[in-house]
Amino acid sequence: MVPSFFTDYETLCERIESIDPDAYAKSRNHLAGAVTWLGPFVTHGVISTRQIAQSVLARSDGKRASGLLSQLGWREFFHRVWQARGDAIFADMREPQTQVSSPNPPRALVEGCSGIDVVDAAVRELQLSGHMHNHARLWTAALACNTGRSHWREASRWMHYHLLDGDLASNTLSWQWVAGTFSQRKYIANQENINRFSGGDQSGTFIDIDYEQLAQLPLPEVLEPRSVIQLDNTYPDTTAGPVVSSESSVILYSIWNLDPNWRRTQAGRRVLLIEPDMHREFALSPLRWRFINHWARAIDGLEVFVGSIDELFPQGTAHLSLFTREYPATRHWPGERDARDWCYAAPERALTSFSRFWKDARKTSSWFGHE
Ligand SMILES: Cc1cc2nc3c(=O)[nH]c(=O)nc-3n(C[C@H](O)[C@H](O)[C@H](O)COP(=O)(O)OP(=O)(O)OC[C@H]3O[C@@H](n4cnc5c(N)ncnc54)[C@H](O)[C@@H]3O)c2cc1C
Repeated sequence: MVPSFFTDYETLCERIESIDPDAYAKSRNHLAGAVTWLGPFVTHGVISTRQIAQSVLARSDGKRASGLLSQLGWREFFHRVWQARGDAIFADMREPQTQVSSPNPPRALVEGCSGIDVVDAAVRELQLSGHMHNHARLWTAALACNTGRSHWREASRWMHYHLLDGDLASNTLSWQWVAGTFSQRKYIANQENINRFSGGDQSGTFIDIDYEQLAQLPLPEVLEPRSVIQLDNTYPDTTAGPVVSSESSVILYSIWNLDPNWRRTQAGRRVLLIEPDMHREFALSPLRWRFINHWARAIDGLEVFVGSIDELFPQGTAHLSLFTREYPATRHWPGERDARDWCYAAPERALTSFSRFWKDARKTSSWFGHE
């Protein structure tokens, strides 16, 4: 069962303590598997990948926990790519997507009526509750981009909007991985694969064929009509006034850094800055904004300011001690920039593939001993 995302920090820590890395490694690919469902908290910086890894390693070892440690590695890989390549991640990364018949995703898919029961149920659940298992994300993306011949970009914006853990790097680059613009080949899934990992037994669908046939399949009729993606934000209310010249210290939070322990003892005004300009293109669902508001309230004294950086600091920042945390989407913010809590050191070689990143991460991390 998917646990509540609207809980308190203590309960969240208990959930981290209860992760079973063996069960995770055995079952994570199955819809009913022992995944952590911690995505939204990682995305919003309430907890870090390092916090999860250290908790698991306190009761396991690098070898046993490597299933989970490598998935945390995927997240860090995507974020290191974002750090290195910046906004280039929002366009086809390695080569243009092939066999695209529309920029817009199939309407039947985004409305949950494609006829592939498990995917339709997962899409409806996504829109209702903001969560979707990794394998269901892969199937949905494969149906949209490859079987459904749409470009990955609009479909990925749609999924990012609904996901409580919607993350610009992980989402964008996963979609590109599926669409073959950030991988060696396109990912496709047939009915047999969906049945195996979902426990379903549907047959006779348009993808109930072998992989050779699926790769050659013309656009199925049910996926032809398209949906134009239109997404809006419902921001929380502003509770903070602009910072004036008599103030001396500000601790500036973003929606991607809602860590209640960050600079906890630092004196100063705590402000969560939400810049509408950032969310115009990549909007967030009302449930997601509620989640952000919920976890912002868990930080003592945090005020909310919806506006631009210039509106928050009308008299500039030269007179201030100003603290922020490094994050690609807020690299234009002024102030002293703290590092995030990573699991793995910054890569020294170009980020050409996850396997290369992971090889270096294993070599430089003490968690895996000498292999
Ligand atoms: C099309 C598509 C879109 C995706 N969009 C997002 C997204 O917007 N945000 C996001 O965080 N992840 C995304 N992922 C990756 C992955 O599906 C989720 O991180 C994972 O399902 C979150 O659930 P969980 O917390 O139970 O993960 P667990 O399996 O319990 O893993 C623990 C943590 O490790 C990280 N992680 C695990 N698997 C991956 C992975 N394959 N890639 C990157 N990080 C991973 C996440 O931070 C996750 O919370 C996407 C994957 C695909 C195929």
